[in-house]
Amino acid sequence: DSSANGTASSIDVVRKKLLGYVGFANLPNQVHRKSVKKGFEFTAMVVGESGLGKSTLVNTLFNTALYPPKENTEPSNETVQTVEIQSITSDIEENGVKLRLTVVDTPGFGDFVNNEESWKPILDDIESRFDAYLEQENRVNRRKMVDNRIHACIYFIMATGHALKPLDIEFMRRLHTRVNLIPVIAKADTLTEEEVVAFKQRILADIQHHKIQIYQAPTYEYDDEETMAENKEIMSKIPFAVVGSDKEVEINGRRVRGRSYPWGLIEVDNEDHCDFVKLRQMLIRTHMEELKEFTNNILYENYRTEKLQAMGIQQDPSVFKEVNPVQKMEEERMAHEQKLSKMEAEMKTVFQAKVQEKEAKLKQSEEELYARHKEMKEALDRQRLELEEKRRRLESGRPMTPEKSKKKGFSFNK
Ligand code: GDP
Repeated sequence: DSSANGTASSIDVVRKKLLGYVGFANLPNQVHRKSVKKGFEFTAMVVGESGLGKSTLVNTLFNTALYPPKENTEPSNETVQTVEIQSITSDIEENGVKLRLTVVDTPGFGDFVNNEESWKPILDDIESRFDAYLEQENRVNRRKMVDNRIHACIYFIMATGHALKPLDIEFMRRLHTRVNLIPVIAKADTLTEEEVVAFKQRILADIQHHKIQIYQAPTYEYDDEETMAENKEIMSKIPFAVVGSDKEVEINGRRVRGRSYPWGLIEVDNEDHCDFVKLRQMLIRTHMEELKEFTNNILYENYRTEKLQAMGIQQDPSVFKEVNPVQKMEEERMAHEQKLSKMEAEMKTVFQAKVQEKEAKLKQSEEELYARHKEMKEALDRQRLELEEKRRRLESGRPMTPEKSKKKGFSFNK
């Protein structure tokens, strides 16, 4: 057998017991540590009418004053008529783990008399970030890729308690194929518990009716039961009814983040009071990587394919083929040249026909001229012959008959 002659055949795998600690059990940690060392990056966008508590919520989510306080925000001033795109990047660190967080705000959204096209600058911004990434992918040196794509878009719905506004529907309808939409009910503390439940149902019905795709955490076969239950719990809270506060209030000797009212206190971090904790859990603790992957593998990939198809390039889904832009340009140039030479040939034919027509006409008038010339020449010749005949007669002394001379006006022997 194989062990007797000392050569193990290649398919025989022998299980060996380690006699002591070697260290490769640390491999997953090494991989993880590498990304920990590099730090993580995440870009979130917040969209909603001004005063809905966007900056307060971002500050509450990351527990830092990312946005300076702006109490008593008035809806945007009248002079600005377009939606702006503003971005703030901060490096934050927790227990040695670094996160480069970019928050993109969209001031002006929904604040004008006419908000019909409020979604457009935002869609353009999201797509231009895709374009910038696509452009980097096409470069030869891909080592320093910068990913500015939006990984999640938190959409703030005003707590009206009724239904989605046309503005909300239009925005989500236009954006859902380009970004992970996470709808939240803003300032949920202004609604009662029952109102929140009813409002959520209405919002979800509207979303379904308009076939809007909001972010859904995927479930994996390899997920353990606990993870699956956790995901289900998170998803059941969408649209998250959130309350933001960057102020602490004291209750029974505890200091908590919340908003106090004459009738009581709303605690931001209390799951019985609002869904803030669930939103934070999904966005930061459990689904940050997932949101990035979905952005890259689905949303960006679809955009990329659509863009290439619009350029007339078909992608074979089974075999991933790189499109060669130089070859594409060369093909387009040749097609253009062919078209040009065809047009040139057509013009030549038309031109030649015209020339021939003109030539024929010229020839005809030439012939006519020639005929007239000939006629005149013959007439002249005849006259000349007549005159010569007369001269000969005169010279030979034979006078003309008087009648004839009279008639002609000649007078002889004067
Ligand atoms: P933004 O314009 O959307 O960024 O809104 P801000 O974050 O500046 O908030 C506007 C106002 O609403 C401020 O006075 C905040 O204190 C207040 N606010 C923010 N979040 C909440 C909330 O969850 N509930 C209530 N009742 N007020 C809030």
